[in-house]
Formats: sequence, structure tokens, C-alpha cells
Amino acid sequence: PSVPDLEALQHADVARLLPVPTGESDKYRRGVVGVVAGSARYPGAAVLAVAGALRGGAGAVRYVGPAADGVIARFPEALVHGGPPAKAGRVQAWVVGPGLGDGIGVVAEVLDSDVPVLVDADGLRLLDAAAVRGRGAPTLLTPHAGEAAALLGVPREEVESARLASVRELASRYGATVLLKGSTTLVAAPDGGRSPVRVNPMGTPWLATAGSGDVLSGLAGSLLAAGLDARDAGSAAAYLHGLAARHAASEGGPITSYEVAEALRSAWGDVQ
Ligand code: AMP
Ligand code: MG
Repeated sequence: PSVPDLEALQHADVARLLPVPTGESDKYRRGVVGVVAGSARYPGAAVLAVAGALRGGAGAVRYVGPAADGVIARFPEALVHGGPPAKAGRVQAWVVGPGLGDGIGVVAEVLDSDVPVLVDADGLRLLDAAAVRGRGAPTLLTPHAGEAAALLGVPREEVESARLASVRELASRYGATVLLKGSTTLVAAPDGGRSPVRVNPMGTPWLATAGSGDVLSGLAGSLLAAGLDARDAGSAAAYLHGLAARHAASEGGPITSYEVAEALRSAWGDVQ
């Protein structure tokens, strides 16, 4: 039987995927997500990625990087570590990249770990395809069109005019699941086109605002830490992120990325 090119993610799929704790749960079984993000120049990216991660259902969030004071000021529940990621303690999935600025040396170190890794934003600059392909655990890349174009070495317009082919090409070139952001978000697995590309129908143009991608990366990383596979984590995160933005916008007017992160709670309740 031939496989369709595209598959729209449904409300019921997301409801089934979201990790709801049970009587047997503890914070470690719910998953610990490590967030490597932020810099002196972009401290807010760390806060937004941690916000998304805390609202993604993991049992704990560990922040590693130079913006720990800002993270703790907003989120006293975050665990922080000033040293290298490998010394941070137990982590079941990493998010690396939002707001790193020039501090992208840390990306290679995170890719060396043996747990799932999500790479976004600055982490995608100078990404080593061989290092990603050689990993023993799943990798999820979350570029927007401009970042995808840089990864492919083509002009941005070429990605915009061939989004499906571009996301598939990236997935096979990097041996990674790829979530291509935009007004419709596509998620492709690195299986040479054997599975359909997931389409998120839940976006809203209100998401076109600074920092919203940082919230998405924390959220998707949290779902990875909870044990979802990269395709499910990416597509469920995109759906919930869009739904949260709609909830936030329903109160009227332009929304901020921090408000999207806060609205993840009610979006989650809506899906359940
Ligand atoms: P970033 O480009 O990393 O800040 O991420 C932006 C986020 O907003 C992604 O989740 C995009 O899919 C979403 N987004 C941006 N523009 C639109 C749009 N016009 N319609 C729907 N979603 C959008
Ligand atoms: Mg971004």
C-alpha cells in the first residue's frame, strides 16, 4: 500500500500522547529535561525555554548555562547548574540552542550524550551532520525556514516553495527527526519517506512573535524526556503550542511568548 505524503495530527492523537502522571509516578519517572539555552545577550530565551519545559509534563527541569539567576527568579522550581552539561546530573532529554549566541561550543558536548536531544535556534548554526547521524539516541531538529535553508545551504525562498521536500531532505541528511516551523508546521522522521510527514493544523499567526519558538523547544524537549518518540514529541508539542496561543489570544489582542507558555496549562486541559 502506498503511504500518503501528509498526515494531520488530530485532537484525539494528542490526548493519547500527553503524559499524565499516575499513582506510580515520581519526578524521575515523569522525566527530567535539561535545557541548555541563553547567554548574556539573550537571557530571556533561557526563561522561555524553561517555561515551555516546565509546562510540558516532565517531572523536573534542569537549566544549564549563564542565565541561571533569571531562570530562578521566574521559576524557583528549576534546578540549575553552572558547569558543563555532562556534569549536570541525571537528564532524560536535552534541549540545546535557544539564545546561545556565540556559546554554541556546548552543542557538540550535548550531542555526545546518549539521551534524546532537541536542537533549535543558535544550536543549528554550524551543526555537524556527521555528529548528528552518528548519535546513538534520537535527535529532533526544530528549524524555521531560514534556519532550514542555512542547514541545506540553499536560499530561504527555496525552502518556502518546497517545504515538504525540504523537511524530508533535512531528515535524511541529518538522520534526525525534523520539525520545520512556519504557518503550518511539518514533522518528518528520518525513515526515507516511509512514514507520512505530520502536519500541525493548530497554529495561529499570533505565534509570529519573538520567543515563541523557545517555548516550543522546551515543551517538545519535556515530551521527549517523558518518553515520547521524536516524531510524537515534536508534533504533539506543535499542536499544544498552537492551542495555547489560541487560548491566550482568545482573551484579546497580541500575545507574548511568556503568555503562550502560561496558557499551555489550559491548552493541556482542553486536549484531555
Ligand atoms: P521561531 O521562528 O523559532 O520564533 O518560532 C516561531 C513559532 O511560531 C513556530 O512555532 C512557528 O510555527 C510559529 N509561527 C510563526 N509564524 C506563524 C504563522 N504565521 N502562523 C502560525 N504559526 C506561526
Ligand atoms: Mg527560534
